[in-house]
Parts: sequence; C-alpha cells; structure tokens
Amino acid sequence: MRLFIAIALPADLAARAAALLPDALPGLRRVKPENLHVTLAFLGWTPDEKLGDVVAAANEAARGQAPFTLVFDRAGRFPERGRPRVVWLGIGEGLAGVAGAGARVASALRLRSLRFDDKPLSPHLTLARVREDASLAEARTVAAAVEALSVAPLSTDVNEIRVMESVLSPKGPRYTPRAASPLRSA
Ligand code: ATP
Ligand code: MG
Repeated sequence: MRLFIAIALPADLAARAAALLPDALPGLRRVKPENLHVTLAFLGWTPDEKLGDVVAAANEAARGQAPFTLVFDRAGRFPERGRPRVVWLGIGEGLAGVAGAGARVASALRLRSLRFDDKPLSPHLTLARVREDASLAEARTVAAAVEALSVAPLSTDVNEIRVMESVLSPKGPRYTPRAASPLRSA
C-alpha cells in the first residue's frame, strides 16, 4: 500500500484555502479540498504487513508532541525561481509544531527500520500543481498570480496526525485515513 503521514485539515479551512487561488488560473491541477493536507512523512509503497508498525510509529511520535495552532499566512511555490511546479500555502505560527511532529515521526519510523523519503521536511500545504503540459505563458501566469496573492491568515488547531493510504488513479489520488494518532494531551 502507498502510505504517508500527514496533518488533515477541517473542511471549512480546506474550502477557504482552496478558494484562495483564482478560478481562472490556467494550467493547474488543483488539489481537491477534501484532499488538502500537510505531509509529515512520505513512505510510498509499503508492505501491507508493516501497517501496524507505521501506526505504532505515528502513535509514538504523536505522544511526544503537544497540540498546537497552525496558521497558513502566505502563498508560495516550488521551485522558488523559474517554471513553477507546485503552488502552496506557507505556515506562520505553528511551524515549530509541524517541524517537531515531522522530526518525531521521522525518528519513530527510523527506529522501526521503516522506509520513507528522509529528505529535510519543508512544511507546506500544496494547493495545486502546474500541469506538465502547461505552456510557458500559463506557467508564468501562475507564477505572477502566486506572487500577487495576499493571504488572510487561516488558522486551525492540530490535535492529531494521520496515517494515510493513497491510491493513485487517472482521476487523481484517493486518500483514506488508516489511523489517527492523538497529540499528547496537555
Ligand atoms: P499525484 O502523485 O497523483 O499528483 P499526490 O502527490 O497528491 O498525487 P501521492 O503521490 O500519493 O499523491 O503523495 C501523497 C503525499 O505525499 C502528497 O502530499 C505528496 O506531495 C507527498 N509526496 C509524494 N511523494 C513524495 C516524496 N517523494 N517525498 C516527499 N513527499 C512526497
Ligand atoms: Mg505524488
């Protein structure tokens, strides 16, 4: 199964985040509001029988992390220059909480010899990807729109992290929560 560990967002915040990008922007594959999340670790293909270990790692990580407030307060893109590939919302308040949760997840996965993409975490909320077949003009339009976007802060309380299964299809990915791990109670 294809797995990742993430912070899920409440529907109202997700709807507001998705609505920030102008409807008219060309050349984008938008993330459906119900799919919006902040990735903490991407495991990718994982043998089914390891799911229990992955959930144990998420539980252990969550027990070490206090709940926190997460605020999205700006738009940005990857890469920073040249043709954009990913459009995201950046995190103001709560960045330390996300980084802390991500670091705890990474060490709990390592402790169990579970494989994941272990590059440094760059916490963000992906809103859209620029289509591979988008024209240069479309990509430039997206880049300019991101630059111009002003984001009224969107805030939510984070009380749990989730182990998610991702099933890819031509219609887009379908994510299913496999477990929810409550953050340490205060
Ligand atoms: P699609 O691949 O069809 O565009 P997706 O990227 O949303 O859909 P997945 O590829 O299953 O679906 O990824 C699930 C989550 O993990 C997404 O947030 C994605 O950005 C992130 N992710 C995917 N691959 C990696 C990777 N190699 N390293 C870090 N994060 C990743
Ligand atoms: Mg992907």
